[in-house]
Amino acid sequence: MSKIKKIGVLTSGGDAPGMNAAIRAVTRTAIYYNLDVIGIRHGFRGMIEGYFKPLKAHTVSDIIQRGGTILKTARCPEFKTKKGRKRAYGNLKSMNIDGVVVIGGDGTFTGAGIFSEEFNIPFIGIPGTIDNDIYGTDVTIGYDTALNTVVEAVDKIRDTASAHNRLFFVEVMGAEAGFIALRSGIACGAEAILIPEEKDQVTTLKSFLEDGFRRKKSRNIIIVAEGDEGGATEIARKLKKDFKDYSMRVTVLGHIQRGGSPSVFDRVTASRLGYHAVEALMDGQNSAMVGIQDNEVVLVPFRKAVKLNKDVNRELLEISKILSI
Ligand code: ATP
Repeated sequence: MSKIKKIGVLTSGGDAPGMNAAIRAVTRTAIYYNLDVIGIRHGFRGMIEGYFKPLKAHTVSDIIQRGGTILKTARCPEFKTKKGRKRAYGNLKSMNIDGVVVIGGDGTFTGAGIFSEEFNIPFIGIPGTIDNDIYGTDVTIGYDTALNTVVEAVDKIRDTASAHNRLFFVEVMGAEAGFIALRSGIACGAEAILIPEEKDQVTTLKSFLEDGFRRKKSRNIIIVAEGDEGGATEIARKLKKDFKDYSMRVTVLGHIQRGGSPSVFDRVTASRLGYHAVEALMDGQNSAMVGIQDNEVVLVPFRKAVKLNKDVNRELLEISKILSI
């Protein structure tokens, strides 16, 4: 018999499409098992300030298709202090919340892990971030939708690039990880993909472009992960003097990658993980993330999920190079 009677759910860090589908799944699974559910608004800040609202089955109707998060999200420096976490604990206790599901990225899991070591309230995480940079899960909620958004945008850019003989640099999100750049780059047939996991890419790109130039390649789409070697604008600036005959353009896709209605894949992933997160709490699990490996749901300790680095698929990188000759 589970000791859990009332759970809290929150979204934290950067928002990602599919977070609402996860909130819905957590809420409805909990209600199915006769648990009470409290929505904690504005992430960890809501835990500290006591922004609580009961969630019912109908509160989460009509949200599975919506981007963003109905619970709002936040970055909360105060949660990094013991004093802040103590206040949060006091609020959870006074609400009789005896387990929390957190939906977010590695910062969120770091905070949740520290909290559950200090206080006797279990935390289970659901990976929700468009960057897909969390170890222990093949996918994170929001990643697939973000990829589709990038591909749709680049397809449009490609039309205009072809019409004008242009060299287009498209900057996508992923300051520390090239998952979005690599996968979207392959999907839209980019001529080159620059990711933070690779070194000396500008030199390689230069010789690649020179070669293409000789072969009178009229149009090039280069996908650049944000921040990589200074970002797309900086890379275009570095190459400009060597390719005077090319008309260069830079597009920074920015926040459109975070928005939009979640894809089928993200909705299904969010529904599965939401269900399993509640099951994990009821099974007495703590300080772990529910993730997906080889299409199976797995439980990964926060400790591992936040410490270990997930590498990009090197084979995809090789394939992208071969396919862009
Ligand atoms: P994303 O990957 O989308 O940025 P994230 O969960 O990694 O999501 P962060 O802003 O890094 O986003 O973390 C979210 C929140 O988690 C922080 O605002 C803070 O409240 C909490 N947090 C992060 N690191 C710690 C830490 N070391 N100790 C306590 N809390 C932390």
